[in-house]
Amino acid sequence: MKTAVEKSNIQAKTTSHLWNAMHRYNPDAQQMVAVSGEGAWFTDEKGNKYLDGVSGLWCLNLGHGRQEIVDAAAEQMKKLSYFPLTMNHQPAVDLSKKISELLGARYQTFFSNSGSEANETAFKIARQYHSQTGNPGKYKFISRYRAYHGSTLGAMSATAQANRRVKYDPSAPGFLHVYPPYSYRSIFGGNPEESDLKAAQLLEELIIWEGEETVAAFIMEPFISGGGVIIPSPKYIQRVAEICEKYNVLLIMDEVVSGYGRTGEMFGFMHAKGVQPDIVTMAKGLTSGYLPLGATAVKSEIYDVFNREGKDNHFRHVSTYGGHPAACAVALKNIEIIEKENIVKRVRELGETKLGKLDQLIDHKNVGEVRRVGFLVGLEMVMDKGSKTPLDDVRMGEIVGKCKQKGLIIGKNGDTIPGQNNVIIIAPPLTSTEEDLDFVVETVESVIRSL
Ligand code: PLP
Repeated sequence: MKTAVEKSNIQAKTTSHLWNAMHRYNPDAQQMVAVSGEGAWFTDEKGNKYLDGVSGLWCLNLGHGRQEIVDAAAEQMKKLSYFPLTMNHQPAVDLSKKISELLGARYQTFFSNSGSEANETAFKIARQYHSQTGNPGKYKFISRYRAYHGSTLGAMSATAQANRRVKYDPSAPGFLHVYPPYSYRSIFGGNPEESDLKAAQLLEELIIWEGEETVAAFIMEPFISGGGVIIPSPKYIQRVAEICEKYNVLLIMDEVVSGYGRTGEMFGFMHAKGVQPDIVTMAKGLTSGYLPLGATAVKSEIYDVFNREGKDNHFRHVSTYGGHPAACAVALKNIEIIEKENIVKRVRELGETKLGKLDQLIDHKNVGEVRRVGFLVGLEMVMDKGSKTPLDDVRMGEIVGKCKQKGLIIGKNGDTIPGQNNVIIIAPPLTSTEEDLDFVVETVESVIRSL
């Protein structure tokens, strides 16, 4: 038994002055400090190497150490170290044009620094858009239970995982939540597509009951990532888009995780043919995490309402660092590499041939469902397949811990029952080599089979 003093000494030595985002009081925890990285791997201060199976926080799409990206940042900083987007600079002009090209329609982009800010920006644009088009009463936002949209107050209010909000409520007013397209545990039964379409129908009911004249926008990820990798049928996304259009509710597509190739399309919504969201928010893979950048791309029809005569049409929103020239230069280089190296096709193919091997785990008694799209995988872990009771925290921790001992970092999330994270998350860098992907699959498989 260690004394309290000994315990607090360990704590002081390991965490020093840094308050990290996963901090929980645990004097015995061995905290790791990363010092370098190459490709999908990083090395800690003791020289241990780990494959980063969750791409940092699902952002390191191109992996560590791409010299071209580092050079792009350095060259930009030498040329023009900083410039605000209350005026224009060339990297932001070029990047906004490129984003519009990638989205497949004309979009105007407002830059910020993160995914949370990109969503906050979208909320403000949506409210002002309705106000300027004769519908000032349209102020409410709808998101799905289990969704994660960020940590700032508005984004947290759209985040519908009770456990992330409870200590900080009341959330911002005007945020409503609706049943997600979660066929594995759906109350609707039927096949996954039928159950997903019922979930879409609940969105329509909610808009009707709330009064369509009060609803500004619906925000969704094409695939809920932080709430347990929930992958609806493309028809769900198409149906939701139709409902939004019918009631003049803007469709905000949160592509913070799914953008830039993660799911085997450049953007996740592209799995649902014919869908063109009103607003697309992005961050993370936009720069592969090399520098912070958020973006809110708005269809030109919406932007036009801000780009016309009249003193009230000004969008009162400004970010000192949003769209920093170096971050925009990094994003441009990142996109250039994604295109040049055919990363999207690679993810589509290797997602099937390599990560697809994880499907075999479905024969294990504790694996309730294997959900995956591209390089985004969730393994829903249960006590047994009949009851579907979420696997307990101890064994979930054991899976993550044993993988780490073997040199693989994976994650767990879900919030299936508030606070219960029974979904194993695997989302390696999109440039992981074939050997890296084999290592991910073999490690996860051997650890789960040893349960
Ligand atoms: N949206 C989604 C879907 C996310 O997963 C996240 C972060 O994980 C965010 C928004 C918020 O992004 P950031 O942490 O950059 O604010």
